[in-house]
Amino acid sequence: MEIDLTRGNIERVQTDPRLTELHLGGLGTNAKLLWDRVPADAEPFSPDNLLIFSTGLLCGTPAPGANRTIISTYSPQTLFMGYSMMGGFLAPELKYAGYDKVIFRGKSPNLVYLWINNDKVEIRDASHLRGKGAVETAELIKQELKEPKAQVAAIGLAGENRVYMASIEQGRSSASRLGLGAVMGDKGLKAVAVRGTKDVNLARPAEFMQLCNEVLQYIKVRAPNLVPEVMPILAGLGSPQEMAHVDEKWHTENFMWGNARTRRKEFWTKEIEEKWKGSLETVRKRLISCYNCPMKCGAIISAPGVSTYMMKCFTKLTYTMAAFVDDLDFGFKIAQQATEYGVDGFSMPQAMAFGFELKEAGILTDADFAGCPSDNEGKFYWLLDRIVRREGIGDVLANGTYWAAKQIGKGAEAYAHNVIKKHEQLPLKLGMLNPIYFLMYCTGEKMNITQIEGNFPQAPFSTMALREAFVKDWVQAPNDKFKQWVLDWEFRGERSMPFYPPVEACCEIVDWQEKMHHIDDALGLCAGLSSFPLKPPYHIHNLPTFISSATGMDMDEDGLTHIFNRNRTLVRAINVRRGLRRADEKPPDDHWKKRFPELETQLLDGYYKFKGWNHEGIPTKESLQTLGLDYVAEDFLKRGILTDNGGDPSKETSAETKKK
Ligand code: SF4
Repeated sequence: MEIDLTRGNIERVQTDPRLTELHLGGLGTNAKLLWDRVPADAEPFSPDNLLIFSTGLLCGTPAPGANRTIISTYSPQTLFMGYSMMGGFLAPELKYAGYDKVIFRGKSPNLVYLWINNDKVEIRDASHLRGKGAVETAELIKQELKEPKAQVAAIGLAGENRVYMASIEQGRSSASRLGLGAVMGDKGLKAVAVRGTKDVNLARPAEFMQLCNEVLQYIKVRAPNLVPEVMPILAGLGSPQEMAHVDEKWHTENFMWGNARTRRKEFWTKEIEEKWKGSLETVRKRLISCYNCPMKCGAIISAPGVSTYMMKCFTKLTYTMAAFVDDLDFGFKIAQQATEYGVDGFSMPQAMAFGFELKEAGILTDADFAGCPSDNEGKFYWLLDRIVRREGIGDVLANGTYWAAKQIGKGAEAYAHNVIKKHEQLPLKLGMLNPIYFLMYCTGEKMNITQIEGNFPQAPFSTMALREAFVKDWVQAPNDKFKQWVLDWEFRGERSMPFYPPVEACCEIVDWQEKMHHIDDALGLCAGLSSFPLKPPYHIHNLPTFISSATGMDMDEDGLTHIFNRNRTLVRAINVRRGLRRADEKPPDDHWKKRFPELETQLLDGYYKFKGWNHEGIPTKESLQTLGLDYVAEDFLKRGILTDNGGDPSKETSAETKKK
């Protein structure tokens, strides 16, 4: 579905089956559309920028967890391709209405929303919804349409005001990272409402149902059989099972408090555990799932004095930890307001803590905070409000810590220390360099570590018995080399971090994890059942059969790997065309205390080589041609990004040096 918001034009276009063969769907075909149709130098807030709501290839089929909506655009935060995804219910509903993607271009002169009711599609006035919360908007639209079963994705005030941390919220999930809600607001689009009642056809339904049943059977066995020695959220299945767990020792003592500077090593006492357990169990009314999934990663939250909402993942901790509040209830209350405003629960608390740190350091002044209450909780509510309304200092902080620091100057940049590619990262500061995470942080373009990390253990197991038990039934591993790395990995000595796993192994491990995420993002599968947890039900050995039996396409592991390489390289190409270079690929200086510059160079060199990229991280002409991306090679040659003399760039244009 093509929507021109400037002219109010709606057009249905057939999905090109050749593009499905080349890129599958979801993120893969979104990348192709952005490459083909959005000028390389288009500003994120330009009418030329596209905002694509996409289903994945398997969405709407009975495959458990095939419910991701993949939203892509150019990000106002990083200026690169922004692709965030959400669970919930929207993508299957879109498929049932008969659509693979909704592609928005242009800008509406008035605030509008899109209503898709199977074949009937209208752009409707949303001026009465201006300023309304994201969850409230969804409810109002369903009432107005008299369609309680419609699925609605909406932005709140943050998106309307083009706050770079604005999310798109949908029932029980949200696309939070990279400021996609700000682009939606810029386009004058308040919401997308969908109702679909058609069928989705499968090429070989009996075979497909058999595969789905095998996945469900596996989940039944795996989910309660926790992997020992790993943190609670990694022990089972699902997307971080934060709402099910009360043990927050690992996060509260390892994640940094405030703007990622202070670690509270002895925080998790018996007393706090009891208090937080009480808070969680009081406000958590029930655990809930996304469409067609037996896991329950989210929860309905009903905190005193605020209306009911859905929470998932670390948001329960981020505001509490940013504000140095020992009371978990504060997190639950402010998150309700933040969800209605529609903001990213990782970046927003960091931007607020950054603001208060600058005030303490005398870089921002009392005048910047005139009217701000003095108590910790009140301060955060006050600043959240200023930021989403873009008032006063809030207008500056609304651009995220990277851009705000540049604008404020006076040494503020030293406080925006938790940023990669201009985007806030997980508030972690660790001891020893982890070579696998080093590569993921450097080269990831999704700007969300949990969307890059995955199937390989995060640390060695302490005993050989545990390692052997882990690899014994590790059917998901691509080959036996991966099992050997787990068996040989030690806490100390020659086979410990940062020099073990060796460079070549780190490259293969990171590539494998990235492959699984890219496949999920093309198929619309939830990472919580595939690329994120240890030993998930979906993996590289069974996914080709899922694709074949759903679509009738011939698919095997090599074919799927080839498509992954094409999709991943195309995303990189889009970003290279927008200035991404090696200089952009570095974790925050203080992310680890113990750094190894020589090893880090070897890791990045090794990874680029493994991927078929040159020293600057630019895909070479040869690797582009191998992937059928000759048109990218031609474009790079024309622009001087590559030259014919071995593929080195003639232009050194790190995005770090570019200002909007
Ligand atoms: S595993 Fe969790 S996040 Fe993923 S689809 Fe299921 S309920 Fe949703």
